[in-house]
Order: sequence, then C-alpha cells, then structure tokens
Amino acid sequence: MLKVTDIGKTYGKFIALENINLEVSDGEFLAIMGPSGSGKSTLINILGLLDQKYTGEYLLKDKSYKDANDNYLSRIRGDQLGFVFQNFKLLTTYSVYENIEVPLIYSKQKQANKRELIEDVINKVGLEGKEKNTPSELSGGQQQRVAIARAIVNRPNLIIADEPTGALDSKTSTEIMDIFTNLNKAGTTIIMVTHDREVADYAMRTVYIRDGHLYNDEKSVKK
Ligand code: ADP
Ligand code: ADP
Repeated sequence: MLKVTDIGKTYGKFIALENINLEVSDGEFLAIMGPSGSGKSTLINILGLLDQKYTGEYLLKDKSYKDANDNYLSRIRGDQLGFVFQNFKLLTTYSVYENIEVPLIYSKQKQANKRELIEDVINKVGLEGKEKNTPSELSGGQQQRVAIARAIVNRPNLIIADEPTGALDSKTSTEIMDIFTNLNKAGTTIIMVTHDREVADYAMRTVYIRDGHLYNDEKSVKK
C-alpha cells in the first residue's frame, strides 16, 4: 500500500521527523502511538498527501506525489484516502446525509448511484433513521459514525484516522473501533494514531514514535 524511505521533516531548525522508514501492506491495520509533540500528526499529514515538504521518499501504491500540484493531490486524496479526525470535522449546518455526500459532490456518478453508496455506508456505521438530523442533534459517537461514513463513501483504499476515539468515552470508543475492525476485515487498510493502548490493541501492528523517530515495530497478537 505504501512505503516510506528515510523521511525527514523540519519546521525551521526544529527536526520534527528524522530517518523515518515504514512499509504498510494492503489490508493492514496499523496503530501509531507516541506522546504529544512526538511527530504523529506531521507523519500522517505526509502519509495523507496533505504535506509535500519533506526529505526522503514516500510512495503510495508505488507512486510518488512529491511534485504533484494541489488540484491533482486533492483529487487523489478524494479518490484513494478517507480521513477521520478526533473532532469529527463535520459541517454543522448540513444534515447527516449531506455530510456523507460531500466527497461525492464532484463525482460524475449518477444521482441514484450516489444515493446507493450513501445508504450503504449509513447502514455500515449504523446510522439508519438519522439521515435528516444535523450533527448537533447527535452524540459524539454518532458524529464519529457520520465522519467514518463520509470517509468511506468513496470506497478508499486507505483510511487515515487521527485520534478517532480521543473525544469519546470508553464504551463509545469500543463501538467505533468495532466499525474500524469490520472495515479492515472487509479489506480496507487503516492507519490510526492513538494515545490509548486499548484502542491500539485493535490494530494488527503498532509502531511507536518519539522525538521524531519511529521505533519498536511490533507485530501484536490479534485479540
Ligand atoms: P503530535 O501529533 O505527535 O502531537 P506533531 O506532529 O503535531 O506531534 O508535532 C511534532 C513537533 O513539531 C512538535 O514539537 C510541534 O510543536 C512541532 N510542530 C508541529 N507543527 C509545527 C509547525 N507548523 N511549525 C513549527 N513547529 C511545528
Ligand atoms: P490520471 O490519468 O491519473 O487520471 P492525469 O494524468 O490525467 O491523471 O493528470 C491530471 C492532471 O494532474 C494533469 O494536469 C497532470 O499534469 C497532473 N498530474 C498528473 N500526474 C502528476 C504528477 N505525478 N505530479 C504532478 N501533476 C500530475
């Protein structure tokens, strides 16, 4: 799925990432753990094609996008990647249905196909009956389900999740991680940043990052 070779990243004189090497295969579920300020967001911004200013090489499906222009990059992100964030990042004046529709707005598919895709992901995340609600009418867990539905509606190869359970209680976190587990079992590759050991245990594999260095690439025993 992706290969990172000797990536480095600086902010001015500050070294945010150094000598990062990482390979993620199709169908993997990887957790990235590390303390605040260790470089997790910097790394996943590079993996998510949100940041092209780094040294070293990053190949997504054997292709480098280092010199790609912004339009091309946003199209690749839309087609191939799904993003899930700690704070959901939903559009507050849009309904559940409209939020999930956002990635399809520029898609050339027929309206009926789009509706089918949206209804399919609403079922997958268990939001039937909430289509017309706005985010403020939903619990945190439900809002994260909307964000996951939006992330997967384009059927991306790779989901990148940044602290997806960071704003949720532990019962709700478990429900969200069950959704990720099911998506992964259905073949989607997932890369997830988390502080939470229990949440990381849902992944097949955990890597640790500290002071911009990646280490301890352990294969964990699946629960
Ligand atoms: P994490 O996600 O693990 O909390 P980040 O990747 O956000 O860490 O940040 C890593 C380090 O880089 C931190 O010390 C942070 O202060 C610094 N940093 C992040 N973004 C910037 C920026 N735009 N300019 C300067 N320093 C930054
Ligand atoms: P695709 O065939 O993958 O659908 P195109 O080759 O038609 O995409 O490219 C669409 C636009 O993106 C064109 O303007 C092209 O110049 C630009 N583009 C394509 N590949 C790259 C790349 N690797 N780096 C920068 N721009 C690119």
